[in-house]
This record gives sequence, structure tokens and C-alpha cells, in this order.
Amino acid sequence: MILPFEHNYTIGVVSQMFQVTPETIRLYEKEGLILPKRSESGQRRYSELDIAWISCIRKLITEDKLNLAGIRHLLALIPCWEMKPCTESERTTCAAYQQNDQPCWNLKQISTLCQEAECYQCIVYRSAQRVGNIKDFIALHIKNISSK
Ligand code: SF4
Repeated sequence: MILPFEHNYTIGVVSQMFQVTPETIRLYEKEGLILPKRSESGQRRYSELDIAWISCIRKLITEDKLNLAGIRHLLALIPCWEMKPCTESERTTCAAYQQNDQPCWNLKQISTLCQEAECYQCIVYRSAQRVGNIKDFIALHIKNISSK
């Protein structure tokens, strides 16, 4: 489910929602998992989508016992090159296509298609919560691979 991405929530509100400290929410950002927008005064603002995604992250940590690096690896498996119209030649120079330890939005040498993009608005980031159900996510991958 794709949720709206107006960025209305402060870090204080989000940390209260999840009963964690603001440092925990900042850590998810530092580790490259979430992409809050910044207000004009530089404060972090979170969308409904971010909140749904943080909820998934909390589940992956508390129920599935993944650490942050493990979640990053799962995010790296999102096939962004299939969700964006990348050409074959763009793929050959794109770190997101070649590496499997970081989500595409953490990589600087991304394809020319992405250099000007606001990742927090991108379909790839907005699909991040798909990895929240690991079995479904892997099943989807297998289905995609076997249909090629
Ligand atoms: S715009 Fe950002 S999130 Fe979207 S595919 Fe490019 S790097 Fe990834």
C-alpha cells in the first residue's frame, strides 16, 4: 500500500508514537534506512509513509531479530532498476545495480536518472515497507526471477 507523503510529523511526535527516543529515530536515518524531509528551518519532518516504514523497521528488529545492517541488505534487494526506466547501459555504471549492501538512495554513484531526484518521493523508497514481510518479499523476488 502506498501512503501519502505530506511531511507533517516532527521527530518528537514520531518517537512518542513508537515509544523510543529521538536518538533511535535519528539512528535509523544515519544508518540510511529512512529519509525524512527537512523543513525550511532544517528540522526533520516525517510522512505517513515514513511512519508506516518505521513501524516495519521496528517489527524487523523486535520480531524478526534483524539488525540495522541486515535491514539495509534487504533494502538493497529492492530492484530499483526495474521500478525506474533504467537503460542497460545505465545499469552497467549504477552502483545500486551492482552492490547489494545498501539501498539505492545511500549510493552516490547512482545512475544519471536519479542524480536530481528527491529520493523520499521516489517509488523505490515508497516501496521500502515491502521488505517488512520477508517471506512475501522473497517470494515476490523468486516469482520475478522465474518469470524472466
Ligand atoms: S531516485 Fe533515489 S530512491 Fe529512487 S531509484 Fe534513484 S536513488 Fe533510488
